Amino acid sequence: MAAEDCLALLVREDWQNQAACRGKDVDVFFPELSDDKGKTKEQLKEELRVKKELAKRICFNCPVREECEEYSSRSNAGQPEEYGIWGGLDEEERFRKYGFPFNQSLRRH
Ligand code: SF4
Repeated sequence: MAAEDCLALLVREDWQNQAACRGKDVDVFFPELSDDKGKTKEQLKEELRVKKELAKRICFNCPVREECEEYSSRSNAGQPEEYGIWGGLDEEERFRKYGFPFNQSLRRH
């Protein structure tokens, strides 16, 4: 599924039409920790960090970054979005910035 399909399902706001992630693989914006048993925990965490950086680089040049970040700060029933890179912020960054206590149990990775 392309990111535009994902955003089209999740977001019904005009700014989405200008999103830099349109046409990109949605998995880039919802990276998960690999379950590769042959790698150490540190290697897996580094892989995840690199995956998140790829998405953040796309967001960095996005013309609707502010709108996207603002949306993600309230899109979960008025609370910050729990998953994914939105507006260049990952889950922990978003929860820290918007003052909602980050719940480790919510993490998929
Ligand atoms: S800020 Fe990132 S996730 Fe948000 S619309 Fe732009 S490219 Fe997509």
